[in-house]
Amino acid sequence: MSSYTRPCRHCGRRINLRQMLHGQWVAFEGDQQHVCDEPAPPKAPPPARPRTPPPAATPAPFEPLYPEVPQDPPPSPQSALDSERHLALAQLEALAVA
Ligand SMILES: [Zn+2]
Repeated sequence: MSSYTRPCRHCGRRINLRQMLHGQWVAFEGDQQHVCDEPAPPKAPPPARPRTPPPAATPAPFEPLYPEVPQDPPPSPQSALDSERHLALAQLEALAVA
């Protein structure tokens, strides 16, 4: 189907001429047939486009107020207890094997 746009010879409005199946040309205005006596059809609203959300503000990388001071962990009494218990368990196992 061929078509072209030109101003109407009668009313001067911009029309779109489309060739129909049987070869005749029909003037269209928008999606409706053009009729010189009738006012131009309202423009079709623009297709709803999903609004692209504004780019998310990238959070600033966490920056400690002061540099972290590496510290040796204080000797915890818990670890001493653990090693003591471990020793006891090892002794128990040795007894079980024997
Ligand atoms: Zn016309």
